[in-house]
Amino acid sequence: MISQAPAFYFPAPRTQKFCSQCGTPITQRIPPDDNRVRDVCDNCGAVHYQNPRNVVGVLPVWGDKILLCRRAIEPRYNKWTLPAGFMELGETSAQGAMRETQEEAGAQIELGPLYTVIDVPHAEQVHLFYLAKVISEELFPGPESLEAGFFAIDEIPWGELAFRTVITTLEHYVEDRKRGVFPVHHYDIPVPYPKQ
Ligand SMILES: [Zn+2]
Repeated sequence: MISQAPAFYFPAPRTQKFCSQCGTPITQRIPPDDNRVRDVCDNCGAVHYQNPRNVVGVLPVWGDKILLCRRAIEPRYNKWTLPAGFMELGETSAQGAMRETQEEAGAQIELGPLYTVIDVPHAEQVHLFYLAKVISEELFPGPESLEAGFFAIDEIPWGELAFRTVITTLEHYVEDRKRGVFPVHHYDIPVPYPKQ
């Protein structure tokens, strides 16, 4: 399949041209008593702080297999991923992880413990993955997925995975499974993943 990258994809770009409070063009400068360049409105005084976004997801396990989804959206169209997405306002990280699993795979799961916490400063994101037990083999992938399916450990399509955080989360899982112990892993991905 051919990937057709849109001009930009959601969430909306970070840069903004106008103040969302009063519509005045934005000025970029360091506000008093601050040490970073911010989007500032010289008309109403609003300072539009930007902070990292949370991506929440699940590593869903069905017996000795793992549930993966093939992406129907950019970025990384057609690549395999764990169910994950941007946390919404007003929900907990666990609720967001379960919602994304429902939206992308239509899978029934029982959420387990937090498993990986991954800082991705170059993408301005923090990724959190929970372990989960799949409780029904039936999957109903939504419009964000081309398909969803179960993979044994030796069937994981390592070369076709979408994101470095998905790859490293799966790598930890494969290692931890040998010992049967699944502690929380907290680490960061300091450099951009090579373009594919
Ligand atoms: Zn303003």
